[in-house]
Amino acid sequence: MRVVIVGNGPGGIELAKRLAGEFDVTVVEKENLPHYSKPLLSHYIADFIPEEKLFPYSREWYEERGINLLLGTEAKLVDRLRKVLVTDKGEIPYDALVIATGARAREPEVPGKEHILTLRTLNDAKLIKERLEEEGEITILGGGFIALELAGNLAKAGHTVRVVHRGRTLLGLDGELSEIIMERLEGAGVEFHLETNALGADEEGLKTDKGYIRGRLKVCAFGIVPNRELALKSGIHAGRGILIDDRFRTSARDVYAIGDCAEHGGVVGGTAKAAVEQAKVLANLLRGADDRYDFSFRSAFFKFADFGVAIIGKTKGSGSWLGEDTKVFYEGESPVGAVVLGNVKKAFRLEKAIKEGLP
Ligand code: FAD
Repeated sequence: MRVVIVGNGPGGIELAKRLAGEFDVTVVEKENLPHYSKPLLSHYIADFIPEEKLFPYSREWYEERGINLLLGTEAKLVDRLRKVLVTDKGEIPYDALVIATGARAREPEVPGKEHILTLRTLNDAKLIKERLEEEGEITILGGGFIALELAGNLAKAGHTVRVVHRGRTLLGLDGELSEIIMERLEGAGVEFHLETNALGADEEGLKTDKGYIRGRLKVCAFGIVPNRELALKSGIHAGRGILIDDRFRTSARDVYAIGDCAEHGGVVGGTAKAAVEQAKVLANLLRGADDRYDFSFRSAFFKFADFGVAIIGKTKGSGSWLGEDTKVFYEGESPVGAVVLGNVKKAFRLEKAIKEGLP
């Protein structure tokens, strides 16, 4: 069986890795680079790791596994009748096609947005790193995990870091948890401007509804836009992302979608962890095994400077503390979610327990 995967991010490469040797696997990637780690980009910008550490797999790694890697190749159209993927370098026939095109960074919709950079690719990271070396300071827009990872690492590296966030809390968490995370990051040197809306930007700084924030380097790190254009052009149904059912099937026969480009039940994954876990389940389904991904259960583990945070399951409503570092959230008597601060190793056990509905 010929499996063609569009996208060489964590979702695409995990699937290729799991199917290699069993199926004829081709990975089509528009960037001219082997797979690199996006979660490590802020560590690279902070100069904590050299560029080569971003690349966990060499070109030989793909060759040894018989994965046909087509770099610098952009998928343009899915010809569903002929079961052929049309790319800018030619046509590739498939028996199963998996769209794993990920997402791009959301851009701020404000006047002067050309003065604000975004962070998604290695090229974006290189540009930010170069500018940071000139400026020595940065203003980051956003209060999600990408903004906080970047802020934490750059503050730890000794740069002046401001975070401008329109919300009152961070990471969509409650006030208490948000306050703890903020204090830790402030301890590392990050300056927060919460409940502050960006109104525009110029070369020297950011205009906000709370005044002008001076700083030449500005990076927007809030939200993602799923890459659904390939699907749309091919007549495959999409909402915010490419619409999939609980077996990752799109509206086109033998065409699947996983990771940041896919939408299930109104939700887009948005993390490398979700993309990898979805790839594992899809690999089993393509092999004919019965497997399911639990779309209703989301969890993610992050590191902001030296401070680990794990967000597991549902974390809304009132929670109670289990020790000093874990807040557990309940529906009735059952734990449905938790936030672990600091040592996230124990979060794996907790994640399993909550998922399996243990008391
Ligand atoms: P992507 O990684 O976006 O890969 C999609 C690939 O498809 C890209 O390489 C793209 O070039 C390619 N592509 C797109 N369109 C086409 C086309 N038409 N033809 C050919 N190729 C195409 N997640 C975590 O879980 N933990 C973290 O700590 C974390 N930190 C992050 C830090 C940063 C700075 C960023 C940017 C992201 C971070 N994430 C983190 C999120 C995580 O990286 C993404 O959720 C994950 O990469 C999604 O994987 P994916 O395989 O769906 O898509």
